[in-house]
Amino acid sequence: MTLPKFLADCMLGKLARWLRILGYDTKYARYLDDPKIIALARFEHRILLTKDTHLTKRAPDVAYFVSSSRVEEQVQEIIKAFQLPYPTPFSRCPHCNELLFDLPPEEAKKEIPLFVSLTFSQFKKCPRCHRIYWPGTHWQRIMQTLSGS
Ligand SMILES: [Zn+2]
Repeated sequence: MTLPKFLADCMLGKLARWLRILGYDTKYARYLDDPKIIALARFEHRILLTKDTHLTKRAPDVAYFVSSSRVEEQVQEIIKAFQLPYPTPFSRCPHCNELLFDLPPEEAKKEIPLFVSLTFSQFKKCPRCHRIYWPGTHWQRIMQTLSGS
């Protein structure tokens, strides 16, 4: 089964970030105008997530109108609407949507604060922006928020 891929429009940057944190492939079209966003969604077979009714009407074949307003609810709306499988958090870079790769702790140690290397044993790195991640901080917080609501 191929997973749906998403393209969030400029109003949905926060949603894009949350979907990535949960492991869902989501691009963020920050600086594109409507025709370009629609073209990109069609070309890359991405579902265009938008809160713009005009844009939804212009591209009914690719656009999905996000009706919730809080990001926690938006994420749940998307998961339900597209019957997404259980999230795989800590797999995708929240900044650039790239899949993260495993970074051996001895490699990670050279680049992270000491207390982090003492507390965590699993690290991932983004091949594009080279940020290093560990399964603490916002991943945990987001999973808690989603399961609690
Ligand atoms: Zn990155």
